[in-house]
Amino acid sequence: MTASILNELQQAAEQNLVDIEHAKDQGRGAIGFYCLYSPTEMAVAANAIPLPLCGTRNDPVAVAEETLPRNLCPLIKSSYGFGVAGTCPYFQFSDVIIGDTTCDGKKKMFELLGRHKPTHVLQLPQGCESESSLPLWRGELDRFKEIVETHTEVQITDQRLRDAISLMNRERQARKNLMDVNRVKPAPLRGSTLIEVLFKVGFLADKEKGIALMEKVTAMAKDGVFRDDPESASTRKRILLTGVPVGVGSDKVIKIVEQCGGDVVAFENCSGYKQAFQVDEDLSPMEALAKQYLATPCSVMSPNDGRFDLLAEMMEGFSVDGVIDLTWQACHTYNIEAHLVNEMVTETKGIPTLHLETDYAESDTEQLRVRIEAYLEML
Ligand code: SF4
Ligand code: SF4
Repeated sequence: MTASILNELQQAAEQNLVDIEHAKDQGRGAIGFYCLYSPTEMAVAANAIPLPLCGTRNDPVAVAEETLPRNLCPLIKSSYGFGVAGTCPYFQFSDVIIGDTTCDGKKKMFELLGRHKPTHVLQLPQGCESESSLPLWRGELDRFKEIVETHTEVQITDQRLRDAISLMNRERQARKNLMDVNRVKPAPLRGSTLIEVLFKVGFLADKEKGIALMEKVTAMAKDGVFRDDPESASTRKRILLTGVPVGVGSDKVIKIVEQCGGDVVAFENCSGYKQAFQVDEDLSPMEALAKQYLATPCSVMSPNDGRFDLLAEMMEGFSVDGVIDLTWQACHTYNIEAHLVNEMVTETKGIPTLHLETDYAESDTEQLRVRIEAYLEML
């Protein structure tokens, strides 16, 4: 049963490439996104296809290192490498790229990426608490709207935005419902399966198809069809993964946890629960988008109190035994924030986090395994 739904997902992913090509032939636009801060609703409202472009594989890193420094976050190198090597169909499909001034590495990488594809970088405030932050971001979203309108030749009316918000809220609710199945013990979904589903659905141009697939997986998970080991699942240590985003290809830590007898039951990162929000449909759409997206609790914000609220809620709600805090090499913001996360987790649960710093390569797999094994034993 697990194999059949994952096959269905794989077929949907393959069909998706054909569908996007066809849609583009018909004149539909496609917009590439690199971060959670830019509202995908803007693309959807212009009937364009939003495509997530953050690289999660190691193969394009070597090409990227011909231009970028080696000592740089693998997510940035992978993203850039995919773009310049021409090996990512979603990058190829994108008519225009939208970036944000999140971390230093990403925003400087966009300057180089702009040589390969029209790239617009939104000026993201460095915090969401000062009085000037929201008006600044609201102004940037006006600029974003104009960029999308120019590229798609579609005027984004308030009604179009409202419809897009409503559709994306349904998609995020379906994501949340899927992630929430793991609130029960034992977790019905392995972390590796959960992240594979969330990752692949994220590329689907047909949002309704993605929602239907997630609803199907959620129902199957509740029926217990994904666990062939319910006995051992009940004794596996429940891990919350926080920190940097992960996806297919950058999921080695999740797999090692599973091989060591643990379960990653929840993801407090932007591949997971940071996307489990709802945009307020009662506010004016541009205000609502600016407010909600600016509140994304990523470590590029200073301070980033929202992350600690979310962590506290998730540690309790998912009944976790331990927290692994993952940092990609050379990611200063997550690396430094790891100290505060460890303090908070230790105070709340009486156990420290396991802070891992790694990249997309497999060379440190055995070192990671030793540390993860020791952590699981300690819990
Ligand atoms: S971790 Fe932060 S900066 Fe990086 S993609 Fe996610 S939201 Fe954006
Ligand atoms: S993981 Fe860190 S360094 Fe890498 S893109 Fe995200 S915020 Fe930037």
